[in-house]
Amino acid sequence: MTETALANLKTLYRIFTVPEAPDSTLGKIDQAITGNVAEFLQKHIVALERSLEDIEKDFSCAAVPEDPTFVSEYTKFVKEKLVAQSVHTAAPGFVGHMTSALPYFMLPLSRIMTALNQNLVKVETSKAFTPLERQVLAMLHNLIYRQDNSFYQRWIHDSDHALGAFCSGGTIANTTAFWVARNRLCAPSGEFRGIAQEGLFKALQHLGCEGLAILASRRAHYSLGKAADLLAIGRDNLVLIDTDDHNRIDMRALREEYRKLCDRNIRPLGLLGIAGTTETGHVDPLEQLADFAEEIGCHFHVDAAWGGPTLFSDTHRSLLAGIERADSVTIDAHKQLYVPMGAGMVLFKDPHALTAIEHHANYILRHGSKDLGSHTLEGSRPGKALLVHAGLSIIGRKGYELLIDLGIEKARCFAELINQHPDFELISAPELNILTYRYHPAWLQALMPGLDLELQQQVNRHLDALTQAVQKIQREAGKTFVSRTRLRCSRYGSEQVTVFRSVLANPLTTVDILNTVLAEQCAIVSAEPEAQEQLQAIETLLAGSKDSATAQ
Ligand SMILES: *Cc1c(COP(=O)(O)O)cnc(C)c1O
Repeated sequence: MTETALANLKTLYRIFTVPEAPDSTLGKIDQAITGNVAEFLQKHIVALERSLEDIEKDFSCAAVPEDPTFVSEYTKFVKEKLVAQSVHTAAPGFVGHMTSALPYFMLPLSRIMTALNQNLVKVETSKAFTPLERQVLAMLHNLIYRQDNSFYQRWIHDSDHALGAFCSGGTIANTTAFWVARNRLCAPSGEFRGIAQEGLFKALQHLGCEGLAILASRRAHYSLGKAADLLAIGRDNLVLIDTDDHNRIDMRALREEYRKLCDRNIRPLGLLGIAGTTETGHVDPLEQLADFAEEIGCHFHVDAAWGGPTLFSDTHRSLLAGIERADSVTIDAHKQLYVPMGAGMVLFKDPHALTAIEHHANYILRHGSKDLGSHTLEGSRPGKALLVHAGLSIIGRKGYELLIDLGIEKARCFAELINQHPDFELISAPELNILTYRYHPAWLQALMPGLDLELQQQVNRHLDALTQAVQKIQREAGKTFVSRTRLRCSRYGSEQVTVFRSVLANPLTTVDILNTVLAEQCAIVSAEPEAQEQLQAIETLLAGSKDSATAQ
């Protein structure tokens, strides 16, 4: 590694730890509430071992307090009931979800954002923040679509257009993308005044079809279901296509489903490509999907909520090749741009695209104004763009590259540890920085391939229960954390198995910590009756099947 990269690395680690002596801008109240945050965060995932039901008792009074109280008294509540019982998502041992550590400067900057209290819905309440947000949208547009400077100079501050929509997260971003796609497909023409005006029934009559559909892989985020519901496309018409052994959309199955839709006179409204699936972090074949969308003439949306920032990495950018052909792309800033919760974006290749959902009102969002609210689903919105801008400016392209590269490297390293450990089985190898695995003792791994499918399935049911129990006990112990999900696994006849899911996004997570995660899981298996029961059940099952085999 070159010297400058090393220097960069050091700064990066430093910005993810809270400074020893509190930054004066952090203020005394924060210090009083959180004490030594860094130390506190790094030791435990949850400080108190109380159950959720127990914690609910602290929040069960439904009456608005009659009498005012002192702020100092209220901060006592914050400290004892909220901070002390919060999940330490920034802890380096918290490697189970997409929520991770924040660079320390996000905290003082969030305070400034709150103090300014700008409302991005209109320029009248956000004079500097509207241009700032437009600049952030252009920067992300540039990351994806790499248009030349004259393009950005032409469109960045154009009053009738927007290069994208800033919103609270990937869910709204995906919904906005398909809202635009829907309104463009059902645009006004001739007598027909468009779906936005006349509704779905008239739109279908106009198109001469029986329904609209969205095509996506089984790994699509659940927000797609919400979008299909909200846009009156219907959840049945969110067509989920099978995936291959690498959790990527199966192009043959896609063509087949498309033909079935045509037979039923249902019109595909949009095709989804995923750049970093939520469960396994895999990337769909975006070039092939772009070709197919072009062939059938439908909107191509890429959900890069998680994987988008991979574009910062010279080493790994090619994994997302084809993303620049998407009509729209979702990126969540509160994931791999390390911005606090509540910051997502959807970018559109065509600066005219958002016109399809344009809305005007008389007192604001007037024609010709630069109000961003005329092109967003949400109304009043905070100045979160400041925090994205801060990350892009302070961490920079090279800093994000380093974070992405480190995460992918660490995930590969974790996969190695799992592969080398006799009692674990890697279920999905990491393409980006997410992987899944399960506890599967060596003796059983040796037997499994020789068992018939039915017996394998029975064994898997017990391993599922084992994984579930271990995950729950580990979470409650609060030292390290992985999440769990269920995935189809081709090794076992494509049936679903329960797996641990690990997301390696916190730069403070070390290989030692990953070893601890595995060691803790092994310790739980050997010590906890709940886990032992499942292993014994498997032994009984196998012994029984051997007996019946010899009897025959
Ligand atoms: C997280 C995620 C979303 C949803 O984003 P929210 O910010 O939680 O609304 C959508 N798609 C993918 C691939 C994601 O990882």
